[in-house]
Amino acid sequence: MSSELEALIRTIPDYPKPGIMFRDITTLLQHPKGLKLSVDGLAEKFSREEIDLVAGIEARGFILGGAVAHVLGKGFVPIRKKGKLPHVTLSQEYALEYGVDHVEVHADACKPGQKVLVIDDLIATGGTAEAGLNLIRRLGGVLVGAGFVIDLPELGGAERLRKAGVHVESLVS
Ligand code: 5GP
Repeated sequence: MSSELEALIRTIPDYPKPGIMFRDITTLLQHPKGLKLSVDGLAEKFSREEIDLVAGIEARGFILGGAVAHVLGKGFVPIRKKGKLPHVTLSQEYALEYGVDHVEVHADACKPGQKVLVIDDLIATGGTAEAGLNLIRRLGGVLVGAGFVIDLPELGGAERLRKAGVHVESLVS
């Protein structure tokens, strides 16, 4: 399955900066079987877990996370970039190559003890995912795991999260 998915991911050299090979999943999302395999594949990886909510990280994590939540029959929680959520929020800083950024979640997005699965399209250094996971923990949520269509293992994010005890799954490495 992963080679089928891999073939649907387009690589854009030098985007958004020289030297970066950007893995573009729009080609995978627009392919009916590609979208289905991605969503069903992620849902399957966590199908034996007890889950109350699926959280997706803006923006591509909304597309996949929303669909995974639907397949699992659960609700969806958006983890958004700074300043986008209308109600009271919790904010988490994370490091970028140069500087910092923030992700936010509504303070009432999950109740203490609720079991939350976090979904994004890709894990590289793991900084974005880690910030999202921290938000869920700070809300009192129980982290079920983190699922990604793509893992870039040379950047070490998935390995780092696994070492910290997180159940990490990906479909293409
Ligand atoms: P990290 O924080 O793990 O270094 O980077 C992962 C985050 O950046 C994810 O939210 C992901 O959407 C985005 N990202 C970084 N590189 C790529 C890439 O090559 N392709 C895609 N689709 N997203 C990327």
